[in-house]
Amino acid sequence: MKLQLFNIANFKVDGGAMFGVVPKVLWSRVYSSDSNNLIVLTLRSLVAETNDHVILVDTGWGDKQDEKFFRHVHLHGGEGLIQGLSNRGYKPEDITDVVLTHLHADHCGGGVKKKDKSNSYELTFPLATYHVSRTQWEWALKNNVREEDAFLEENIFPIGQSGQLNLVDEEGELFPGFSVRICYGHTPGLMIPEIKYKGKTLVYTGDLIPTVAHIPIIWNMSYDIESLKTIEEKEKLLKEALEGGNILIFQHDEHVECCTLEMTPKGIRAKEKFRFSEINFK
Ligand SMILES: [Zn+2]
Repeated sequence: MKLQLFNIANFKVDGGAMFGVVPKVLWSRVYSSDSNNLIVLTLRSLVAETNDHVILVDTGWGDKQDEKFFRHVHLHGGEGLIQGLSNRGYKPEDITDVVLTHLHADHCGGGVKKKDKSNSYELTFPLATYHVSRTQWEWALKNNVREEDAFLEENIFPIGQSGQLNLVDEEGELFPGFSVRICYGHTPGLMIPEIKYKGKTLVYTGDLIPTVAHIPIIWNMSYDIESLKTIEEKEKLLKEALEGGNILIFQHDEHVECCTLEMTPKGIRAKEKFRFSEINFK
């Protein structure tokens, strides 16, 4: 398998919301914020190429909403979705599968684009199957007041109407060497890809462990729908990753792409932090 990681863009969110009940005096020691208390997050996507598939994991915000919407998001930097793929030799038509960890706007928005200058929409990856867990799909369609700013119709309906949606019912292998675990705390049906690569298991922790600072089990986002479930799911994932010598990949960490784990008196923590390109040498 050929595996590549790239950052679509950086954006900003409120640091307090990102660290939930953790006081700022503590989180500000490990993650810096600006004068408005905003912190910078990345949108790292994975591209996995197997014999028969080119799989893209998550698609960033996309560009369908208006200027006012994006003013709050503070998009800056990164390679861009299409350009980042192009930099690695892929055209949108080359992508056979899009795996969406979940349907929050910063993860799935880039999968749907405006058709020319009209107000209708089409899939950004015209030949791809879009994989979403059945639980997340049904949850997002029902929507709810807590997540209504995150589940946007224009990001979701066109996928359903395309006939290219595959609903994932169970955990396990989606492609050879590429499996998903399904979590419920951040949002029901969050898929966490686990990939066999160079003799290691890589875990793309998505919104379950968005940054290296979220490894301590009670350091969680206030966006989570059920914190106790997040805690349980993180504990299980971290324990398995520690035992298996797995490498974690962070989707949202401004500085840290990957880490290994170790047990400390305080619990499981990051051991070595390194760039994705350094995995070859581990
Ligand atoms: Zn999310």
